[in-house]
Amino acid sequence: MKEVADEEKLCIFLTELDREYKSKAIGSLYELNVNLIQSQYEIIPSWYDSHIRKESKGLFQKFPVVKNTYNQAICPICEGVFSTKVTLEHIIPKSGKEKNGQKLGEPRLAILPINLVKCCGECNTSKHSKRSFIEEESEINPYFEEFAIEKYFEVNFNDTNEVFQPSIVFHYKDNTMDKRIRNFINNYNIEKTYNHRIKLEFQKILTILANNPITLTKSILKPYIEHLSDIYSKNSEFEKIDDKYWFDQNYFGFLICEHLKIRIENDTSTVYKLNEEINKLRKPSQYIAFSNPEFQNDMNKVQTIRDLEIFIKNNKEDLIVYYQQIKKQGFSIDFPKLFKVDEDRLRKKCLEDRLRKKRLIEEIVKYYLESGKSFDHFGEDCSFVIG
Ligand SMILES: [Zn+2]
Repeated sequence: MKEVADEEKLCIFLTELDREYKSKAIGSLYELNVNLIQSQYEIIPSWYDSHIRKESKGLFQKFPVVKNTYNQAICPICEGVFSTKVTLEHIIPKSGKEKNGQKLGEPRLAILPINLVKCCGECNTSKHSKRSFIEEESEINPYFEEFAIEKYFEVNFNDTNEVFQPSIVFHYKDNTMDKRIRNFINNYNIEKTYNHRIKLEFQKILTILANNPITLTKSILKPYIEHLSDIYSKNSEFEKIDDKYWFDQNYFGFLICEHLKIRIENDTSTVYKLNEEINKLRKPSQYIAFSNPEFQNDMNKVQTIRDLEIFIKNNKEDLIVYYQQIKKQGFSIDFPKLFKVDEDRLRKKCLEDRLRKKRLIEEIVKYYLESGKSFDHFGEDCSFVIG
């Protein structure tokens, strides 16, 4: 009978604690005072191991999970899809260890469901073992408090001689909320996780680009990155959870493309650096063995219709192979210097005119290649079209 009475008391204790926790859960967990509830249940910490965490029969299985648009369970902290290891995180730590006569955590919170969050192994670090007692250290329980994490980081590119790759850097202002968020980001290794994700997506983009057999010029890269950005953006919109972006691969892909779009436009070395990274991933089989080893150089030099005619005459076979390859990768044909004059001295109107003419001629080349037409009257056709 004694045992039953104890269980009833424990039940009342947990119910009161739950109410107390809920009242403090938004911004004030530092004020949570377990002593207000008159109870000394030394047994609680051991219950955590025997009743909750136990893999097979434990209550662990019954804890709720957050799901993404594809109905996959995700970690509510870093938003990654659960892979193998799913753990329970104590938002207010449960450690009974003492330092300077004060308990680091609160063992009596060990089995309180609202203090437990199912999260991934990467997020469940041991960095947070001391509970908060001041407002700016107050824990954030992701089930109660949401914040727009995207406002706290920016994408940059690590740019050294050896490597060119995206990175994510968090920054905070000097106020209470930002201090709490900084603790949250640090305790759960989110900066590291996000950096890992963005680098992974960048490698994916580079791998696709590496399938292209030649050096990628600005006029090939720019529309391609824009196109990729659109795809990522559409996917991210589709993947929104409760009207908020899901911070997984499509979102990070979108951030990379948005950053690259600006960078390609404003920093001429970007195209070169991207090509360096792409080259690291190219396999010898992905290079085309051109019969003219100067194929690409010659292609890049074409400036007038006359140059183009000569280039095609001398490189017809290579051009056909080249076109088949880039077509497979979704790229268009590009003669970067076609009709190029000293652009600095050109007015915007003339620049647009040059690009229009250039695209028109590239479309004609494409038409010839697609239809298998001989290039005998190519020059005449071009002159006729552009006048
Ligand atoms: Zn996680």
